[in-house]
Amino acid sequence: MDASVLLIGSDRFQASVLDLIRDLATLAIEVAADPFEATPLIQAQQPDLLLVQASQPDSLNLCRQLKSQNRLSWIYCIVIDEQLQDGLRKIEIETAALNAGADAYLAFPTEAAITTQQVFWNRLLQAYVFAGLRRVQNHRELMRTNDVLSAIALSDPLTELNNRRAFEWELPRQIKNARHRRAPISLLMLDVDYFKRINDTYGHLVGDTALQLLSARLRHNLRFYDTPFRYGGEEFVILLSDTGCQEAEQIAHRICQLIREQPFAIDENLELKITISAGVATLQARDDAKGNSLLQRADQRLLKAKALGRNRVVGSDAEA
Ligand code: GH3
Ligand code: MG
Ligand code: MG
Repeated sequence: MDASVLLIGSDRFQASVLDLIRDLATLAIEVAADPFEATPLIQAQQPDLLLVQASQPDSLNLCRQLKSQNRLSWIYCIVIDEQLQDGLRKIEIETAALNAGADAYLAFPTEAAITTQQVFWNRLLQAYVFAGLRRVQNHRELMRTNDVLSAIALSDPLTELNNRRAFEWELPRQIKNARHRRAPISLLMLDVDYFKRINDTYGHLVGDTALQLLSARLRHNLRFYDTPFRYGGEEFVILLSDTGCQEAEQIAHRICQLIREQPFAIDENLELKITISAGVATLQARDDAKGNSLLQRADQRLLKAKALGRNRVVGSDAEA
């Protein structure tokens, strides 16, 4: 099993634990003299497992800190008490360790006892290490599955653009970020003109291909920090970071032009001329944090662009 372990404790503790896990050749083992030295190593390297000497001052604090950080709380933490304790004292220390967030607690007897019973302690510690690594491995697999599921949940299968759920998640995040940085942010809402006619004339499969080609053209013609989303049907929104109202309007004109000027080659025999209409809105101080009013302004301007005859852009907050 390829895994990484960080051993935290005195030289004597390190030597005796290393001796017990020496058979686990595939483990990458690092050492730290105390929790203070261990903290930057944990942050930077995120080892799978910690073996922490219980008698170190701050060992339980280290467990507490680890488990309070989402990013690191999956790291499996075994507190090892290598000093012989009487029964009640052992229960007290074990209780404190588990309450602090340790995943497991293991008490060794004195060194003398270890030498006569070494093989048993050896097996027990290895069993604890394997139990911890199994948990970490399960966690990593779950996280990988989670990433795949999130990608599926947030992406539109037809166009491979981010979908409306992704937009609703991203919009408040970007608004918060823009306000924090005192940077402008704008939103374009686009709708394909007379799209129903394409379906009615050539069928839905041709309509689907047109949406795919149009989405690809959008994606390839935006700056890398602008994000297009399929809002639904033949409607798209584009979040333009660091973009004020005049620039947003220029971008909207450019996008309308690049859709209008180059027909879409559905196959060798069919080229479709498509136009879109766009509403542009730029974040204002009065807009709500979720972005509802910003989106509503862009939507109203899109409706106006349709009412004015389609194939045009209506903005902007400069005149609002
Ligand atoms: P307008 O200029 O007013 O926007 O006219 P329109 O025809 O584009 O608008 P309307 O809302 O009447 O029709 C939109 C059409 O888009 C109807 C719907 O069947 C079609 N549509 C929505 N999603 C898809 C899709 O995924 N694939 C295909 N082929 N058609 C879709
Ligand atoms: Mg339409
Ligand atoms: Mg529509």
